[in-house]
Amino acid sequence: MSGPLHPKATEISFVLNNGVRMPALGLGTANPPAEIGRTKQAVKAAIKAGYRHIDTAWAYGTEPFVGEAIKELTEEGVIKREDVFITSKVWPVLWDDVERSLNESLDSLGVEYIDLLLQHWPVCYAKQEDPHGINGLSRNPETSNGEPNYEVSGDWLETYLQMERIYLDPSDERVRSIGVSNFPEKYLERTLLECAVKPAVNQVEMHPRLPQLALKKYCRAHNVLLEAYSPFGSHNAPNVHIPLVKDLAEKYKVSPSVILNSYHIRQGSVVASRSLNMMRIASNIEFAPLSKEDLDNLDQLGVAQPERFVNEKWNAIVPGFTGKGPSI
Ligand code: NDP
Repeated sequence: MSGPLHPKATEISFVLNNGVRMPALGLGTANPPAEIGRTKQAVKAAIKAGYRHIDTAWAYGTEPFVGEAIKELTEEGVIKREDVFITSKVWPVLWDDVERSLNESLDSLGVEYIDLLLQHWPVCYAKQEDPHGINGLSRNPETSNGEPNYEVSGDWLETYLQMERIYLDPSDERVRSIGVSNFPEKYLERTLLECAVKPAVNQVEMHPRLPQLALKKYCRAHNVLLEAYSPFGSHNAPNVHIPLVKDLAEKYKVSPSVILNSYHIRQGSVVASRSLNMMRIASNIEFAPLSKEDLDNLDQLGVAQPERFVNEKWNAIVPGFTGKGPSI
């Protein structure tokens, strides 16, 4: 049962393969474009509620608001920069220009360093200018036929190779850890083989409807921490309505969202979940000590009836990261 004997999810952390400590629960900031201005209040509320980890990205357009929140909280004496773990990501349009991506993220955030820099997707997009895009670039460039405009001669490993050059440079302190996101097992295998620095993290969509059992096993065996995104099933949180999740919420006297966050933390994975609702931000920090049987039953939901919610046309280029099948 949950109660005072159990820590809050925000009090739990894991140590990455380079020794850096990462808080288990992060506040996600992939907020809907019409709502990004509310990010600052959400981040401030989260940090005041006890969150010490914010997940953002060059592509979200939310970095300036995360930065404003952190600046105000440091000025108010609530936190120091080093109290908060910030994750940012390099979007595929900057697959060959990590320097630009990192500098723009640091500028937008108004910080000197990022705790974890992830390669957002193993995809190379063409650069297309777009005054309404992110820093003048189209986020999802398309050909005249409306197809994803990939940089066909690009190699997705180039991004991580550039990231590790920055990470390994002893005179460069802009990044404390590096990792990847949306990497299937085969791509991780190649990365481990051809790169000097093992990714600290692989951030993927993961929840009871997509338990990622094979990838979890692989990441554990290679000491790459698996991090869950979209734990509630993304927009409108469909996973909070799963009957087993609701039953467990009743059993542990917490909300279904707490079951969905705890499902990862209980298994040693980090989780980033998003809310712009102050009450939910505060209550999502509870932790439910789910049993092995509870965890197995939750996994079985995805084995029986898999569902992927982040499923856009251009993801199809990454094997297993589209549709329902093999990445379970
Ligand atoms: P989530 O699975 O976190 O779900 C967000 C939705 O859940 C919102 O609609 C939110 O609404 C709702 N919600 C939050 N708390 C509750 C609650 N207690 N009860 C009911 N509903 C609730 O979605 P995301 O897809 O945003 O994933 C989380 C984060 O992961 C992202 O924000 C981003 O940081 C990261 N991410 C990374 C990706 C990658 O490619 N690496 C891809 C996708 C996400 P409300 O605001 O009204 O509370």
